[in-house]
Amino acid sequence: INGLISGNSDPGFERFVYDSYRRFIQMYSDVVMEVGKEYFEELIDKMKKGKGITNDIDLTASDLKTLAQQFKQEYKEKIGEDFPSNPKDQLMGAIKAVFRSWDNPRANVYRRMNNIPYSWGTAVNVQPMVYGNLNNKSGTGVAFTRDPATGEKALFGEYLINAQGEDVVAGIRTPNKIDKLADEMPNVYEEFVQIANKLEKHYKDMQDVEFTIENEKLYMLQTRNGKRTAAAALKIAVDFVDEGMIDEQEAVLRVEPKQLDSLLHPQFDPKALKNATPIGTGLAASPGAACGKIVFTAEDAKEWASRGEKVCLVRLETSPEDIEGMVSAQGILTVRGGMTSHAAVVARGMGTCCVSGCGEILMHEQEKYFELSGKRYNEGDYISLDGSTGKIYGEAVPTVEATISGDFSRFMKWADERRTLKVRTNADNPRDAAQAVKFGAEGIGLCRTEHMFFEGDRIKAIREMIVSKTVEERKKALAKILPLQQGDFEQMYRVLEGRPMTIRFLDPPLHEFVPAKDEEIKELADDMGISAQELKTVIEGLHESNPMMGHRGCRLAVTFPEIAEMQTTAVIKAALKVNAENNGYTVVPEIMIPLVGEVRELKFVKDIVVATADKLMKDSGAQLTYHVGTMIEIPRAAVTADEIAKEAEFFSFGTNDLTQMTFGFSRDDAGKFLESYYDTKIFESDPFERIDQNGVGKLVKMAVELGRKTRPDIKLGICGE
Ligand code: PEP
Ligand code: MG
Repeated sequence: INGLISGNSDPGFERFVYDSYRRFIQMYSDVVMEVGKEYFEELIDKMKKGKGITNDIDLTASDLKTLAQQFKQEYKEKIGEDFPSNPKDQLMGAIKAVFRSWDNPRANVYRRMNNIPYSWGTAVNVQPMVYGNLNNKSGTGVAFTRDPATGEKALFGEYLINAQGEDVVAGIRTPNKIDKLADEMPNVYEEFVQIANKLEKHYKDMQDVEFTIENEKLYMLQTRNGKRTAAAALKIAVDFVDEGMIDEQEAVLRVEPKQLDSLLHPQFDPKALKNATPIGTGLAASPGAACGKIVFTAEDAKEWASRGEKVCLVRLETSPEDIEGMVSAQGILTVRGGMTSHAAVVARGMGTCCVSGCGEILMHEQEKYFELSGKRYNEGDYISLDGSTGKIYGEAVPTVEATISGDFSRFMKWADERRTLKVRTNADNPRDAAQAVKFGAEGIGLCRTEHMFFEGDRIKAIREMIVSKTVEERKKALAKILPLQQGDFEQMYRVLEGRPMTIRFLDPPLHEFVPAKDEEIKELADDMGISAQELKTVIEGLHESNPMMGHRGCRLAVTFPEIAEMQTTAVIKAALKVNAENNGYTVVPEIMIPLVGEVRELKFVKDIVVATADKLMKDSGAQLTYHVGTMIEIPRAAVTADEIAKEAEFFSFGTNDLTQMTFGFSRDDAGKFLESYYDTKIFESDPFERIDQNGVGKLVKMAVELGRKTRPDIKLGICGE
């Protein structure tokens, strides 16, 4: 310090040296020793208060000297030794801190969200420093070469005179808009604009730059591709094509699929979001933003919404009974459940925002309140959810509707011209099917027929079927289901106007459908004309230890062929009927048999389908083309795909079950231990969310090769969350 000061006769220099030194102690303690910076800020505040000043800039050289002493004292108290004075020790400490930062919890979460491998590691650059706090001809700032919120082509940034970078971020002083620099230091501004343009041209992308001015000389500290909103990403990509900087292919690769998806859903007003702080995070289960009053039951959601209230439904987890409430809610928040949980799957189908699996919530569902981040949230309080990031806000953050601009359709046309996959949707009812067609789906790739019974009184019919003890009872229940199912298929075929639909036969993991609550059991028993006790005994008999590996999928049709018969009747009759309407398109049904592991299982069910369909066609006198295929979602199906392809006209890889069965862990329960897998770096991401290419992917590859060996033109699809 003395060396520095004695070398300079400028009267302000001593102040600069002590300001730099106190900043160094503060930052070193925070970043290297991890003691935080609040203590130091408190000391600065105390000093300013004592002197009756509000700006750091008004602290004199002697004030800063005193502060540096106090900081070192503070350091010694916290760390138990003197602040290091050897520059080599300081440098090593700083270098180690950078490497360590690769492993902090924030970095781990960020990498997981953005699919960045841990193994990449990080690097350290050591370089001389320039000082924005040297005097009033110095300063520092940050800028984007385009507006990161809208994408508009204009420099967007701010700076502070006589300051260092963290002062801009910390918000202690209000920075100036970058344009003001044109008046304050015209030459520096001119040079800055030129460099910013040059960087943008070089990287061919919007840049986020940091700069420092030392004695009216400009230094660029850093440049990187700037973070931007979805709307800005789209506009920038399209503008860059128009400006001749990138080609259409490059533009398509520039926009994150996740961002594009969020453009189709309501989003938070960016200005309002800036002032909001999240109170917690769950899984980003279904994109879009939602803001509404908290309700804890589906009934309340429905009732409040019918009064015109906007509500968010908060539940431990959702079940089929909650559907109507989910439809009425702006957003859904659950404490339990992963990306394939009921809430997540159903919300995505509806296009409703959902944050699932926020385990930090202390839920008091009965008492209608929950606690999160130490605060209590009651029924009727406002909450806001971001289904694209998983963030939860304990306040009302206004949302704006999705607006699809002309840029969007231009962009999507470029994508369409280059893609090799077709995209169908998951949809199980006419409402979701219509929504998906509106969003450009080329058909339905997976219609889960068990989901067609989530709504209203329908669940009772399917429950009645499940708990039937005799064929007669079951046939009676199936007779109730048939017209509902056929009616839905007809409506969906009409909505699709000739686009294909793969209808998957029933695959209800029993635990998701068998009634559990006393009042549900009583209601069903009354409907069936039996006693609640008798029904309870039946339900107990159905209990399975591993329902995901239980009596579901094609196994159900093997035991109860009448189910496959009924479903075939519903599909074929619906197709015949809609085709007879001569609407200008032809329906070609695709029937998919789930959970096949052995070709004879498939053959058994397929024979029922074919016999039933042929009879119906004969009776009606009309011709109909239809296809029968299977899901490949059990490892044995993948490794015997050559045999299975003899019976299957198409495969659809069900990556939920295939992942579950390949790893051998339950898709319903994996969330409970995956966090430790991330912490220990055994996994870097949720295999139910991002396919495990090495294991599950290998099975898929094998099945494709084997399947094509038997049936070269086999149609292949992939589904799952
Ligand atoms: C799958 O297993 O990947 C699948 C799509 O089916 P479900 O999620 O209904 O089991
Ligand atoms: Mg499955």
